[in-house]
Amino acid sequence: MSLTQVLILLGAPGAGKGTQAVRLCAARSLAHISTGDLFRENLKKETALGKRAKGFMDAGQLVPDELVLEMLFDRVAKPDCRNGYLLDGFPRTIAQAEALEKRLGPSNRAGNHVTVLSLRVPESVLVERLTGRRTCSACGNIQHMLFSAPKIAGKCDKCGGALVQRSDDTVEVVKKRLEVYRAQTQPLEGFYSARKLLTEIDGHRGEDEVFRDLSARAFAALDGEAA
Ligand code: AMP
Repeated sequence: MSLTQVLILLGAPGAGKGTQAVRLCAARSLAHISTGDLFRENLKKETALGKRAKGFMDAGQLVPDELVLEMLFDRVAKPDCRNGYLLDGFPRTIAQAEALEKRLGPSNRAGNHVTVLSLRVPESVLVERLTGRRTCSACGNIQHMLFSAPKIAGKCDKCGGALVQRSDDTVEVVKKRLEVYRAQTQPLEGFYSARKLLTEIDGHRGEDEVFRDLSARAFAALDGEAA
């Protein structure tokens, strides 16, 4: 059986998971699986799943586990995930982590290799990062009004597409998302630490510096086990 490499990026909203995930996946041809992006695609296409998820997302709450799990497991069954994939924004609850563990089997033994990297960023920084974040509606590029301000107002530096603010990046919803993170997602650090799968990374540094550290640890872990 060939080895499936599963990289899990943990971290609060705004910790930089999405930005770093794109770079890690490009460097290692892993499939980038963001449950938030999958929900946003469903919202855009107005699918039944999108309609059910919308209220939770707008309120900064988590979408119920059973909806997330069905969507995620369908996605990782696709051929592009056969050799490996990176999970960005999943798992977000202990129940999700347990369901993933059950599906994959015992970590780092039978045919799969799991690495969990947690990006740590102080909460005051998260609020500033999230409320200033803008995403290109055409290519998905992420910019920031203070730290990577667009050269032309409202336009993506990479492709010229329209930069938009995510509806859940407003101050009120961000506060709720961080509260939900503390209560439901942060306990995953203990879950993975108990399984000796967790590596913590200081995410309060420049994007390139974080990437150097993160990629070195991710690839060392993946290669070490795969060798
Ligand atoms: P994100 O883009 O990862 O910040 O996700 C945006 C929103 O999608 C979250 O605030 C949740 O409402 C929903 N969502 C994404 N991933 C999950 C997940 N694993 N479990 C529950 N809800 C999720």
